[in-house]
Amino acid sequence: MTWQPVVGLEIHVQLKTRTKMFCRCANGFGGGENTQTCPVCLALPGALPVPNRIALEWTLKLGLALGCEIPKRAVFARKNYFYPDSPKGYQISQYDLPSCVNGRMLVPSSAGDHEVGIVRAHLEEDAAKTVHVGGRTGRIGGAEHSLVDFNRVGTPLVEIVTGPDIHSSEDARRFLQLLRQTIVELGISDAEMEKGTLRVDANVSVRPAGSAELRTRCELKNMNSFRFVAQGIDAEVARQIAVYEAGGEVVQETYDFDASSGALTARRSKEEADDYRYFPEPDLVPVEPPAELVERLRGELPELPSVRIRRLERELDLDRALVLVTGGLDRLYEATVAAGAEPLPVANLIANRLATSAGDAVDASQLALLVGARDRIPRAVLDDALSHIDEPGFEAAPYLAQEAVSDTGELEPVIARIIDANPGQVAAYRGGKEGLLGFFVGQVLKETGGKANARVVSELVRERLGA
Ligand code: ZN
Ligand code: MN
Repeated sequence: MTWQPVVGLEIHVQLKTRTKMFCRCANGFGGGENTQTCPVCLALPGALPVPNRIALEWTLKLGLALGCEIPKRAVFARKNYFYPDSPKGYQISQYDLPSCVNGRMLVPSSAGDHEVGIVRAHLEEDAAKTVHVGGRTGRIGGAEHSLVDFNRVGTPLVEIVTGPDIHSSEDARRFLQLLRQTIVELGISDAEMEKGTLRVDANVSVRPAGSAELRTRCELKNMNSFRFVAQGIDAEVARQIAVYEAGGEVVQETYDFDASSGALTARRSKEEADDYRYFPEPDLVPVEPPAELVERLRGELPELPSVRIRRLERELDLDRALVLVTGGLDRLYEATVAAGAEPLPVANLIANRLATSAGDAVDASQLALLVGARDRIPRAVLDDALSHIDEPGFEAAPYLAQEAVSDTGELEPVIARIIDANPGQVAAYRGGKEGLLGFFVGQVLKETGGKANARVVSELVRERLGA
């Protein structure tokens, strides 16, 4: 039987507001442990929460970017649970009346746009950070003791829940890349998985291909990169298929995925909403965003990544468009093309040679000059130029002046020498190992101190060896 994976994602995004969600403590890294706290976020008796207006607006903005409806009324609720990372004994979240509902994100793919439903996006507060000491994995299992850092407690989090619309680990990865880029461009979070400002849980089930049923799902947690999310999904899909094919039943459980071993470890059976005894937060009034505010935020949305991917795809191709847009490099690409450089070489050079972080610092007109001269200047000079291109005041001119040696009269004796010195490789090349062309070109470049024009050298070598 063929099986289809069915995946829904739950994504937590830590907003980079200046202060926490319900108090005026600083939000963010940098302070020593347990220095960014106050009576509100430590839940001392009598302290009352005051919502952060910016966090509320950013949640709506993200919801609008995800095509959500903004209900006229959202309500904060208490989600009750006992754990040392939650001094109140509950988390303030949103439950039956979230801030954003019924959205969708279009993920461009070679088979057309793949639509992923956004069930809801709601605002809540983060828990404190627990540090498990003495164990092998840094997780609670096997640890000797645990410490709690309350700096993170009460920082604003948006939780985004997708529909069960994702059917491969590759689609999950692509959706997450696009979502992350959207969040970063809205300026509301750094959305970095390694730092925990973006966290992804995956609900995974499988079903016979062609059926529409939803079978029992398992939840994967604690995956700290998009690659690990994809690997975790693949491992869980394989596990469930094996269970069904052996005649068993999948039991609803939460798993940790360990990317280094590929192992899935069951942590606990999944709790249901009933277990949390949700009720409306009595210390906060409902959120009723005025229509003018929603329209203003809608007007502030930038052109979204998925739209830009489709636009760039028309002059490049889908893969290059995806790399440029999800790397935050497409504006530099467009500016460089507008400055007169050819699209394809610009796309390749930016995608392969520039760090994502360099994008905003590069002067497109200088990059266009380098792209135009890329075949005339030695490879080493081009590399050197690219390594400095994001520095302020960078000028391409001095690099362009170092034209590569293309003079055949100068190159031919060097080529002849190298061919004579390597009779074994010459015979192999003539016997069909054409990949050795690179070996000869490399030797000539080395001999000329990197100054030879690689394209001209490769033509000359090919000619001579073909003779
Ligand atoms: Zn506080
Ligand atoms: Mn949550």
